[in-house]
This record gives sequence, structure tokens and C-alpha cells, in this order.
Amino acid sequence: MRYGHHRAGASRESASRCRQDDRDRRRLLRRRRGHPLAVGKGAKRPSRARMRGQLLDEAARATLPSAVDVCVCGGGAAGLVAAISAAEAGASTAVLERDFSCGRSILATGGGRCNLTRLDLDARAYNDPAFIDAVCGPLFSTDVLGFFDACGLATSFESEGDTRIYPLSDRASSVREVLLGRARRAGVILACAREVGGIGGDSVLFRELFSDGEHSLRAKAIVLAGRDGFVPAGLDAVPFSPLLCPVACEGLPFDELDGRRVHARVTLLRDGKTVLDEYGEVLFRSYGLSGIVIFNLSRFARRGDTVELDLAPGLDDSSFAKLVSSAGNAAGIVDPVIVDVLGDEKHVSCTVSGLAQTEHAQVRRGGLVTGQFDPATLMVRDRPGLFAAGEVIDIDGPCGGYNLSWAWRSGQIAGTAAAAYAKAGA
Ligand SMILES: Cc1cc2nc3c(=O)[nH]c(=O)nc-3n(C[C@H](O)[C@H](O)[C@H](O)COP(=O)(O)OP(=O)(O)OC[C@H]3O[C@@H](n4cnc5c(N)ncnc54)[C@H](O)[C@@H]3O)c2cc1C
Repeated sequence: MRYGHHRAGASRESASRCRQDDRDRRRLLRRRRGHPLAVGKGAKRPSRARMRGQLLDEAARATLPSAVDVCVCGGGAAGLVAAISAAEAGASTAVLERDFSCGRSILATGGGRCNLTRLDLDARAYNDPAFIDAVCGPLFSTDVLGFFDACGLATSFESEGDTRIYPLSDRASSVREVLLGRARRAGVILACAREVGGIGGDSVLFRELFSDGEHSLRAKAIVLAGRDGFVPAGLDAVPFSPLLCPVACEGLPFDELDGRRVHARVTLLRDGKTVLDEYGEVLFRSYGLSGIVIFNLSRFARRGDTVELDLAPGLDDSSFAKLVSSAGNAAGIVDPVIVDVLGDEKHVSCTVSGLAQTEHAQVRRGGLVTGQFDPATLMVRDRPGLFAAGEVIDIDGPCGGYNLSWAWRSGQIAGTAAAAYAKAGA
């Protein structure tokens, strides 16, 4: 795969044109090589069990020294960037990752395309704006883009006028590959199939999944980056709970609306007061509501809240009713099935009964309480040498590149500071 230097600051027009060219080029290459995606059937893929076995063998071959300067616990988005930053700052660095390979969490992001950041990151979009401001400062987007530019990742905007940024290849795997490549070049030891279970003194305690053996690794500095994984005792932590997922609702004939989509203004109300007001595509499901705008609403929704949908925000009530009565389908503005089920109601409402499909939630709220960190280094104030990055800290943002941006930037800060700490103590 080619990672040409298309800078995110270049014009949106050329960005989307480049991406189209890139897609065409890939399609052509697949056809020429008889790629299975192009011809419908292809070479036999190794079975899942065999691939698992190969990855385990590979993981077992990674040998660890008895001590390193920096040990990163968790090799996902934040952990990989922390490890790269620490190693490039001159620290001997190892990642202990529970999974069979590092960075796999990145592959599912953005529907497999990875919305890695956005041009207009705003601290106010996060659950703790003051902390984000103190840690990431005014150059948040610039710092994230600078990091990926240095990785050689070509990026582009989602579309003209959109500030969300994706890899030019349109593949999340490109993001993972550039990170793994940069980590290897920096000399990071990627020790996979190792599950961290505790910290004892200056050692990280872990279990090898291929041998079931318990081991320890001494480190001058430790970076926690395990998201829902290990959180050391003695630190202030909020229990994890799922966010950015569909919302279960009552009060509308959801069974009849299942699978129908509408571009609506969505308002979340509690005790008559507006909690959130956003515009976007809503997907009706048999249990309630889904879609990006609803995922964002899930960060605030509580049982008993009201969700109001304005099904045609561009029209006033009487124009909408007239269109429905004359054309039967609001002249194509609203799906005719929705009109059939809901009649000429432009405003409909339902009651939140909970969150739905939480097993697929994109983000977890909770984790290490922000107040215990030095925002300049992400070191726990009263545990010198212990740092954290990513979702293991109690930070969450809406859809649209906010959560990965936090993972990348916090990883950079914690990794660099951990290396400085390790070297200062050497
Ligand atoms: C389906 C989906 C789509 C998403 N799309 C986007 C998007 O497009 N844009 C966006 O900004 N955000 C997106 N997100 C959110 C984003 O992926 C996360 O916010 C981000 O990955 C968090 O980074 P992290 O490093 O903290 O956690 P992760 O990336 O999850 O990495 C944590 C790593 O730690 C490892 N680990 C856990 N416990 C242990 C342990 N005890 N020992 C060793 N290793 C351990 C895990 O195996 C994992 O590799 C999406 C999330 C999902 C689920």
C-alpha cells in the first residue's frame, strides 16, 4: 500500500478527488491480481483457528528483557502512540498486550475506515472540557495531524465541507500499519498475548496466554492504556459504563418502523429542559432509535427522558401537513412508510427506557478520575512513575473522531513524559 504524503491541510476538493483516484487504482489492482473481492471467489483463507495459532506462536517468539525504561500496558490506539513516543524519546520500551496482536481495536473504527481525528476538535465536546483543555491545549488537532503526518499516513476529509479526517486509503488497517511500522522502527518490543494483572513495586505483573505462566517486568515508568482492562488498586476510578450506542425507547410503534431512516432534528428533554439538540440521520429499530445522532444522545440519555423528533426540520408544520395530504409521502422528504405509520405528525416523541446493544458500544464512560493526574504529563500525582492514556482515563467524547483523538494525543503526552521520567531517574 502506498502512503503518499497528502497533507490534511490541502484543499478538500483535491482530497476527495485523490481518494476517488485511490479507490479506482485499488479496484484495478485487485482485478489484475485476481483479488477475491473482485472475482467473487479467491484463494482459500487460513482458518480462524490456524491464524490464531500462528499469532500465538508469533507472540511467544517476542522475548522480553527483565527490565525496561517504560512499560506500556495495552497496545491499542493510545498504547501504541505512547510506546512510539517513549521509544523515540530514547527510552527502552515494551508493550504488554492481551490480544494476539497490537492495534486490533483500530480496525473496527469508523466502520472499518477509521475516523482518526477532525480539524475542529473542541474541548467542550468532551465530558471534562477543563481537563481536555489543560492536557491538549489549543493545538489539539494540529498535534494529532502532525503525529500522523510524521508516520507517513496520507489523510483526507470525509467530504467537501466536512472536518472529519480519514486515511486516504479509506482503510482503518492503514492507520494500524503505520503505527506498527513506526513502533518497530523505534525499537518498541510488542509483547502480545500477555495480560497485565497487577503492579508490584516497580514491576508489572502479567500472564502469558500461550504458556499460562505468570511473569513480571521491571520498569522505571509504567503507562496504563488498557481501556476496559487492568486498573491498579488504590487509584480513584469511576465504574465503566457503555456509551455511543442505540437507545431503547417506548411510546412509538417501533416494530412497524423498524429499519426506516429519517433525517430529523432530535431533542433530548429532561423535566421539560433541553439536554441535547442535534440534527442527523435517525434509524428506527424495533427496540427504539439508532444512528450517529442517537449514539451521541446516548452519552446524556437517562431512563424517563423524552426524545422529540422533528421529522422535517426544513418545513413548518402546516407545509408538512399539506405535503403529506397532497403527496402522501411529504413529497419524498420523509420515507412513505414512516408517514403511513405516523400520519401527518411532524413532531413525534418517545420515552427513553435505557441503552440498547451495549455490547457494541463504541466508548466506555468511567475509568481513572481525571483530578488525580498532572495534565502536563498524565502522571498520577501521588504515584510517581505511573502514567495513563486513552479511555482508561474517565474521558469520552461524541462520534466523529473525538475519542481516537484523545487516545492519540494522551498517548503522545504520557509516552513522552514517561520516557523523560525514566531517563531522569536513571
Ligand atoms: C466499533 C467502534 C468504532 C469506533 N469508531 C471510532 C471512530 O471512527 N473514531 C473515533 O474517534 N473513535 C472511534 N471509536 C472509539 C475508539 O476506538 C476508542 O476511543 C479508542 O480505541 C480508545 O483507545 P484506547 O487505546 O484507550 O483503547 P483500545 O484502543 O481499546 O486499546 C486498549 C488495548 O488494551 C488491551 N488490554 C485491555 N486490557 C488489558 C490487560 N489487562 N493487559 C494487556 N492489555 C490489555 C486491549 O486488548 C486493547 O488492545 C470506535 C469504537 C468502536 C468500538
